[in-house]
Amino acid sequence: MSKSELPKQQNKKCIICGFYSEGSLCFKHRIAARSLTEGYKYWKEAFDISFNEYLREVRKRPETGTWVKEVIDYIVSSNDFKILDE
Ligand SMILES: [Zn+2]
Repeated sequence: MSKSELPKQQNKKCIICGFYSEGSLCFKHRIAARSLTEGYKYWKEAFDISFNEYLREVRKRPETGTWVKEVIDYIVSSNDFKILDE
């Protein structure tokens, strides 16, 4: 059985908003997820907090963007931290 027989995943959808995506996340939610993981590096150094605490703090902040909030809500409700590593 060759791999070429498998259907290509051309119609994947973002697990958060359902928009077309090449992976689990669409373009905007991937950017948001990336900024979350990047931001944690600084927060960890400055405040020595766990990733879950970090998510809670960022979620509360009025300046946090909608996309980032949606990513946080998804991670918290699904416990699916893997999407941050994609
Ligand atoms: Zn999305």
